[in-house]
This record gives sequence, C-alpha cells and structure tokens, in this order.
Amino acid sequence: MRLFLAILLCKLARAALRLLGRGGTALPGSLALKLCPDIVARLSRPLKTIMVTGTNGKTTTCRMIERMLGDAGFDCMANRSGPNLERGIAADLCANAGLTGRPRKRVAVIECDEAAFKRVCGEMKPAAVVVTNIFRDQLDRYGEVTHTLESIRIGLERAGGALVCLNADDSLVASLAPDAADRVRFFGIDVPLGEASAVSDAPRCIICGAEYEYKYHTFAHLGGFCCPKCGYSRTEPEVAVVGVDSLGPEGSVAEIRVDGEIYTAPVSLPGAYNLYNAAAAVAGVTALGVGAESAIKSLAHIESGFGRMERFELGEAKVTMVLVKNPAGCDRALEYLAGVPEAAAVFCLNDGTADGTDVSWIWDAGFERLFSGGQRREIIVSGTRADDMRLRLKYAGADDGDVRTVRGTAELADAIAALRGQVCVMPTYTAMLPLRAELASRVGRKEFWK
Ligand SMILES: [Zn+2]
Repeated sequence: MRLFLAILLCKLARAALRLLGRGGTALPGSLALKLCPDIVARLSRPLKTIMVTGTNGKTTTCRMIERMLGDAGFDCMANRSGPNLERGIAADLCANAGLTGRPRKRVAVIECDEAAFKRVCGEMKPAAVVVTNIFRDQLDRYGEVTHTLESIRIGLERAGGALVCLNADDSLVASLAPDAADRVRFFGIDVPLGEASAVSDAPRCIICGAEYEYKYHTFAHLGGFCCPKCGYSRTEPEVAVVGVDSLGPEGSVAEIRVDGEIYTAPVSLPGAYNLYNAAAAVAGVTALGVGAESAIKSLAHIESGFGRMERFELGEAKVTMVLVKNPAGCDRALEYLAGVPEAAAVFCLNDGTADGTDVSWIWDAGFERLFSGGQRREIIVSGTRADDMRLRLKYAGADDGDVRTVRGTAELADAIAALRGQVCVMPTYTAMLPLRAELASRVGRKEFWK
C-alpha cells in the first residue's frame, strides 16, 4: 500500500510540475522516499541495472551505454533528466513503474553521484558498475578525493556481486580492484594523449605515499603510473584504446582492443577525453554480455547529452556548449578549445551551491594553453563571478582588449547570436540552466526534461 501511494504521489507531483511548465524530479522523488523509504530497493529489484559513477564523464558514458544496449536489442530506462541523487533516481524508477510497482522496462542505466553512490548502490544491487575517474570536484561539497574514493568503496561492498569496471589509468579508481578481486574488468588508454598537468589530484601512491613515476600521461593524473617503492602500478586493461587515428571537431577514430581483439572505432563525439568514456561504456556493456563488435559500432551514433558538448546554430554562430565544473573537466574543454583557434570563447562562471561556492578552482585549470605562442581570440566572460574569470584570463595571458564582460542571460544570448563562426560556450551548472533555456527558445529546441 505504501509503495502504491508513493508511486502515485510521485507521478502526480511530476505531472503537476509539468503543467506548471517546470521540469525536475527532486520534489516528486523526495515525496516518494518520504512515504516509502525503501522505494529504490523495491522498484529496482526486478531490474538488471548498470550504474555509472565517478567525477567526470558519467552522463556521456551513460548515453553511450544506453545506445549500445538499445542497438543490441535491450529496451532500457535511464535517469536522463540530470539530478543523479537518490531522490531523482527514485522519481525515474517510479516513472518506469506501473502503480503496482511492476517495471515497464527491465534494464536500467543509472548515473549516480559519487556522494550518493554508497547508499544507492547498496539499494539497487546493480549487475555492473562503471567507475569513470576521480578528480577534485567541488571540494566544499565532497571533501578530499580520498573521501570520494571511500564512498565508492563502501558502495561497491554493499552492491555484493556486481561486475566492476574500473579505469586502469586512474591510480585512485584502480585501487578499488582488490576489494572486487575476480569481478573486475579494467578499461584505459594505452597511448599518451597529453602532458602531466601542473596540479595532480593524486601525485603520491595511495598505498605507500611515494611519488608515482609515469611511463606516459593521458589527462591530469591519468596514465601509465607506477610506484617505484611498493610496485603498485597500472594493470593491463581488458578494454583499451591502443591507437588514435584521427581527432576532429566532429568526432574521432580510434583503435580499441577488447579482450585481445582489435576494432576500428569511429566515435561521433569530439575530444580525446570521449575516448575514455567510450572505453568505459564498452567495458560496461561487454561485461553484461553485449558483443564487442556491436558495442563498438554504436559509438558512431552517440548524440551528446545534456550540456556536455552540445551543438547548435544561432544566427551565424556555430555554438558548442560544454559544461565545466572542476579543473580536470575544464582542462579537457580547454584542450578542445585550443584545437579550434578560430573559435570565440564564452566563459560563464557562477558560484551557486550546485556549482561549488568556492570558485578558486579556476586557478587550477590551465587557461594558459589558450594563449600560448601569442594566440588571440574573441572572449566573453559572464556569470555572477565574471570579474574573477576576467582576472584569471588576464593572468593566463589574455589581451585584456580581447575580453568583454556581458551581464544578464538575455544580454549574453544576444552577444552570442551576434558572433560568427565557431563559438565555444563554457558555463558552470547554474549558469548553464538559464542560458540554455534562453538559447533553446531562440533555436527552437525542446526543453531538456521532456
Ligand atoms: Zn607505493
């Protein structure tokens, strides 16, 4: 009875919010959890679930997994609307259930916040878990990276017998392996992609504290790490990007090895970091029994998710929007931007709770790479902390005459619409929501939660 009422109330609340022209799953999910605290466990029991957690790449990895499972003939539900905390997941499970709790779709792809993971994972008992990476993210909310790592470790313990797909190149994530022993499947990138960044989130061995040595670097602290003192080092992954044939603004082509077999993989999302997401997704679905060839084929048909590298045209501006929220994610977006020197750049920095109220992270991101060798481009700064952003760019080497400050969402949309050619817009979370709604109304695109 409680379950019935909780599902009913959740559905009604969601419908009412839609009538009011609002999306959102937080309130309906909270109501359902209040009435039936174990609703997540009860509704997910009949489901075969694959969960994705980690700091960066969760959303894109989930979209890839969803596509791969769909192409392989599995009809799946996913928590696509954004809030990947327990209440949002509860609301999406209610939406997937009839009033008796019977699921409509029996396979679930669930993106889960690292902090909520230890609780949700224990309740959902997923068949497989993918851990993408661990970076410093919104320190005021999550604490140190080791705290995040511990939260994931506890979640995996509570999940019981789940297959665990871990990033072999991330010394933090890979250290979770001994706890899952024979159920681990590693993914990674076998070739160098970049330089070490000046600030590493994990410079020292998680086991003995000695400084790591690297055979090669991919991103930030990811790569071929090895501890010279205790010998803790990267494990050869089952799913690995072994070569990169091309990288372009529309996508890339890579060679991916899956359990000893090498496949050529066109990936329809740009940015070398999407190769990590691709490897993670392939590891996840092949752990569930999807054929490698089928999974690789799906990579050519991935559409970008909510705000994570989204493209549209506005007037004569070809806009790419990338959500940024921490130094590592920002570095990846900057690396993409540095590869498109003719593009104008728009940075929108807010300091809302969902962004992390401490914006000092911008000093850890490598904005310098945009101005190396005297490169210049048109730049707009906006958001509640536009002045901090402007100062950061000045220190990074921007010519102050190239930087404009634009305040207000409508004014910013006007300014973007007046640009020509490639434009890369990089907002933080609470800056993205109103800007995206404003741009969507001009472009004529559906709101994201529909
Ligand atoms: Zn060590």
